[in-house]
Amino acid sequence: MRRLSRLADWPLAAKMILPTILLGLAVLVLGVIGDEFVGSQLHLMRELAVDDLSTVITLSQVADDVQAANGGIYRLLTVRAAHVNGIDVAAEVDRLTARIEQARARLASLGTRMPASAPRQELAVLRSNLARYRDTIKVVGSMLEMDFPSAVALVRPFDANAHQTIAELTGLADNVARSARDQVAHSSALIDRLNRICAVLMIAVLLAAGAIASEITRRTAASVRRIAQATLLVANGDQALRVETLARRDELGAIVESLRSFQSNNARINFLAHHDALTALPNRALFHDRVSLAVQLCAAGRHCALHCLDLDHFKAVNDTLGHPVGDALLREVASRLISCVREGDTVARLGGDEFAIVQLGVTDPQQAGALAERVIEVISEPYEINGHQLMVGTSVGVVTTPCTDLTVDGLMRNADMALYRAKAEGRGTWRFFEPDMDAAQQQRRVMEMDMRAALAQHQFELYYQPLVNVATHEVSGFEALIRWHHPERGMISPAQFIPLAEETGLIVQMGAWVMRQACADAATWQGGLKVAVNLSPLQFKDRNLLNVVQQALTASGLPAWRLELEITEGVLLHENEATLAILHKLRALGIRISMDDFGTGYSSLSYLRSFPFDKIKIDQSFIRDLSAQSGAVAIVRAVTGLGSSLGIRTTAEGVETEDQLARLISEGCTEVQGYLFSPPRPAKDVPRLVAEIGKRPASGLVPVVVDSPAEDAPAS
Ligand code: C2E
Ligand code: CA
Ligand code: CA
Repeated sequence: MRRLSRLADWPLAAKMILPTILLGLAVLVLGVIGDEFVGSQLHLMRELAVDDLSTVITLSQVADDVQAANGGIYRLLTVRAAHVNGIDVAAEVDRLTARIEQARARLASLGTRMPASAPRQELAVLRSNLARYRDTIKVVGSMLEMDFPSAVALVRPFDANAHQTIAELTGLADNVARSARDQVAHSSALIDRLNRICAVLMIAVLLAAGAIASEITRRTAASVRRIAQATLLVANGDQALRVETLARRDELGAIVESLRSFQSNNARINFLAHHDALTALPNRALFHDRVSLAVQLCAAGRHCALHCLDLDHFKAVNDTLGHPVGDALLREVASRLISCVREGDTVARLGGDEFAIVQLGVTDPQQAGALAERVIEVISEPYEINGHQLMVGTSVGVVTTPCTDLTVDGLMRNADMALYRAKAEGRGTWRFFEPDMDAAQQQRRVMEMDMRAALAQHQFELYYQPLVNVATHEVSGFEALIRWHHPERGMISPAQFIPLAEETGLIVQMGAWVMRQACADAATWQGGLKVAVNLSPLQFKDRNLLNVVQQALTASGLPAWRLELEITEGVLLHENEATLAILHKLRALGIRISMDDFGTGYSSLSYLRSFPFDKIKIDQSFIRDLSAQSGAVAIVRAVTGLGSSLGIRTTAEGVETEDQLARLISEGCTEVQGYLFSPPRPAKDVPRLVAEIGKRPASGLVPVVVDSPAEDAPAS
């Protein structure tokens, strides 16, 4: 098992080659053994062939020798019997004995070469027989002359012996040849058997190698299959990787390892994709899913509420105390929100200072109202962050189900509208969504689209309202006030569309047009008349404002000192370095800066200190109240006093009556503006207004009568 697991750690290639190596080794070993064996058998056969053949030859030569010697002796006897003379008997006997000696020597030589199995005993007997035969020939040779009959008698048994010897030799040769044949047959049978064994072994090795290869392939394939399944699970976001048993160090192990790290990265990426990095709350995407789940529950008869909220004045915290404090505040808000909800509810951060809650199991709208109240209460508790004591408020918009638009987008939009209403009705409150909010929202959307079209189609126009110098009784300049000639709805007052233009950011484009148009119009006016242009806080956020103003001056040729810019507290509310820097640059160009709607904000006086304004425009609400017994007179007096001591001119807005005018003059106001002199009029009326107001009696008791009907005073 352990060895197998170690085998599992081998690289795949090594595992695949293993059976081939085993096969090769087996073939090599079998080859060497077989070669060795077959070689030895062949050698044996060769030896046999050489030795036995020569033995057989030698034996037949010996037989020949014996035959020849026997024949020779009989020839001698025959010759002697016929008394043939001239024959050298001694030489013939020598020749015959030499022949016998030669046969003996041949037999002796056989003794050394014959295989161990050879009949040495018989050979030894043969040799001694031959020795006796040789001796007999010698004796017969010497007796031939003296005692012929004895010699014949001696030869006779010898002859029988010779025949016997020759037969034995032939038998011996036969035996040797037969044993050699047997040996060869035996060897070739051995070789045959070896061949068969080798073939069987080879097949066995082949089968084993095949089995190992297929087992390795099977295991590898099984692992790959499991990795593939695990990969699919991981890709689908499954958190548990189920290939623990694949803890191995081969390539598959490496794949599993990288899959594991992919999985953990994936989990992190997944979390980040669905959560806000700062607060770790669900983000907009995940919140969307949760709302969609809630919608399904609602469809099944279980009800819920959706709360949308944002923080009041969060931006001021960020701007004044810096982002680290802002971030810490958001984290604290997040944890307070979580403390307000029950398990199963979702608190999400949708972005910036926007949060939202899905409240589940709402059986009565009152429960949703109670949560909204708790949220406002908890968020409004003071914060202690990095040594700063902070207060932030929040407004909440709530939509509960059942409702008509039971979709994710519908719920989000309706909660948003309720939030919009809550903020419009004073911050730190909450509102339920009501169907009329939807209608109002629809109307706003239509208006926004119309407004975009209006800019392109030149439906906007500037009207001008005179500013009258109290001391000289002359028009010192005009305030440019935008008008919208709507093709269906007629003339629309800026009070109706400026807030929406600010909300949608369209004010930047619109403001730039106003700037260019006002400068162009004013450049045509005689006598150094000034033009006052209103600026929205949004235009300061657009870093291009300085360029817009400079280009308008350059294009129109209007000198900078004839341009006045009116800003409200809103511009300085988010007072920051950049806004003040722009204001200083504008002023450095020679442009005058007026503080508009003075007294309507919370801290107009403190803003007066932050920038050297050229003019204060006292809001018309104070002028309206001048006649009544109110604090307005005291306020106007205080402002004009402040103005004269700081060297700042004061303009009273909304002067409608001679009575108001008289009081303002007596309070030391330097400039007035209002219906008493003229409502805002189209640009073409400017020269006539200048002339007619100039002709006005110094007492200011007789109002100007204009030919064309005055426009309806727009509600502001
Ligand atoms: P505002 O700057 O305070 O402008 C004065 C408003 O008072 C004008 O309203 C004017 O018609 C009105 N008014 C003048 N004399 C009298 C009077 O004797 N009695 C009464 N009841 N009202 C008088 P309008 O033209 O409707 O403008 C409303 C507001 O819209 C302006 O208040 C200003 O804040 C804004 N606005 C107008 N034009 C522009 C513009 O071009 N850019 C920006 N950002 N805001 C503009
Ligand atoms: Ca104004
Ligand atoms: Ca004003």
